Amino acid sequence: MTPVALALAERAVPRYTSYPTAPHFTPAVDAARYAGWLDAVPDDDAVSLYIHVPYCAELCLYCGCHTKAIRREEPLEAYADRIAHEIRLVTGRIGRRRVLHLHWGGGTPSVLGEKRLAALTAHLRRAVDLDGIIEHAIELDPRRTTRALAGALADMGVNRVSLGVQDFSPHVQAAIGRVQPFGAVEDVVGLLRDAGIKAINFDLMYGLPRQTEDDVRRTVTLAHSLRPARLALFGYAHVPWFKTQQKLIDGSTLPGVAERFAQAAAARELLTGFGYVSIGIDHFAQADDSLARAAANGRLRRNFQGYTADAADTLIGLGASAISRLPQGFAQNVPGVGAYGRAVAAGRFATARGVALSAQDRVRAHIIERLMCDFAVDLAACAGAEQIEFMPELEALGPLCAEGLVTIDGAFIKITEQGRPFVRLAAAAFDAYLAHGAARHSRAV
Ligand code: SF4
Repeated sequence: MTPVALALAERAVPRYTSYPTAPHFTPAVDAARYAGWLDAVPDDDAVSLYIHVPYCAELCLYCGCHTKAIRREEPLEAYADRIAHEIRLVTGRIGRRRVLHLHWGGGTPSVLGEKRLAALTAHLRRAVDLDGIIEHAIELDPRRTTRALAGALADMGVNRVSLGVQDFSPHVQAAIGRVQPFGAVEDVVGLLRDAGIKAINFDLMYGLPRQTEDDVRRTVTLAHSLRPARLALFGYAHVPWFKTQQKLIDGSTLPGVAERFAQAAAARELLTGFGYVSIGIDHFAQADDSLARAAANGRLRRNFQGYTADAADTLIGLGASAISRLPQGFAQNVPGVGAYGRAVAAGRFATARGVALSAQDRVRAHIIERLMCDFAVDLAACAGAEQIEFMPELEALGPLCAEGLVTIDGAFIKITEQGRPFVRLAAAAFDAYLAHGAARHSRAV
C-alpha cells in the first residue's frame, strides 16, 4: 500500500448500514410519527422483523453491541413480555402481515431461554403470517448453545444461525475475553445440523488484540473445515470512548493499519480460494447461498445486520434500541430497557429518534447502498428527477482516483479491485451529513 493509501485507510468513516447513519437521527421522529408511518404501510406489502435482545450471559471485552450482562431471570421475563406488547402495538397498526425475514439479534437472544423464545414465536404466529417466511435467523453464542436449544430453535422454524467465532487462536481469545476452542464450535455446528438447521454462518474478525496474519489464516482454514454457508469478516473497531469494556483492551496490542490490511487481504484470498463468493465489503457465501444469488442478480441490500437478500421495504425493529426502516424513514426505539419497557407497557411506541427521508436523502441512500453492494453506481440513474450535479462529491473522490482506487467515467463511478477495501471512503463522499456531525467512527479499513 502506498503512503497515501495508508493515510486514507486511517480515516474514520461510517459503515453505512443505513443512510443517513444513526448518529444523525434526531428526536423529530417520535412515537406519533412512527405510528403514522406504520399506518401508511401499503395493504399488500409483506414486512420483515428484527427482534433485539440486549442481554448476554457475560460481556466480551471487544463487544461493540448494545447489550449488558445478566444473571437473573426476572428481567428476561419482563423483557420478553414487553416484546410481546410491542408486537401487539405494531400489528394493531399494520394488521396481520406476511413476514419475509425474521431475525433475532443482540446481545445473545438465546439468553431468553428456550421456553420464552418458543412462547414469543407462538405469539408472533398468532399476530403475523410466518407461513411463507424465507429466512428465520438467530445470532448464537457457541459457548451457550446446547442440544436442547438447537432442537427448540428448529421447532420454532429457525432456518439460519450465525455463530460468533472471531478467532480460534487461544491467545487472541484470551485477549478478547471469549474462550471457545475450535472443538467446542465444531460440536455446536454438529448439534445444529443434527437438529435440521443447515444454514450456518460464522462471524470472524481481524484487527483483534494480539492477532497476527498467521492467526487469521489458521482461523479461516479451520472455519472452512466446518463448511459454513456464509462468513462475515469484520474489522475490530476499537472505540473505548463509546464502549467502556473495550478500555480493558491494551491498545498497544492492536495490529496497526498495515497489519490489519494484510490480515483482511489474507482472509479474503483464502476464502475466495476455498470457493466462497465475495459479497460486498465483508461477507463471503457459498455460491448456492441466497446472499450469493442476490449479489449475482443485483438484488443485494444493506441493512443494520449488514448485507441481506431481504427484499421487504419495511423492516420493523422490536426491542430496546431497535431501528425500524420504513419507506418514509428510520425510527429508533429508546436504548434503555427500563424506558423501553415503560413505554410499550403503557401502550405507547418507544420511539426516541429517527430521520424522515427527504428526496435528496433517498438519492444519496441509493447511491451509497449500490456502492456498498455493487462497487459501482450510475449517478444519473440514481438521481432521477432530482437535479443534483454532484460536483463536490466527484472532487472528493479525486484522491481515491489518483491512487487507482476509483474510476469515474461520466456519471459512472466504479471501485477498482484494489479499491474495494476503501469503498466506505467513496460512499462517504456522497454523505451530506458527515461534515455536520460530531460522531466518531471506526477507521475506513
Ligand atoms: S460479543 Fe456477542 S456475546 Fe459477547 S458481549 Fe457482545 S453481544 Fe454478547
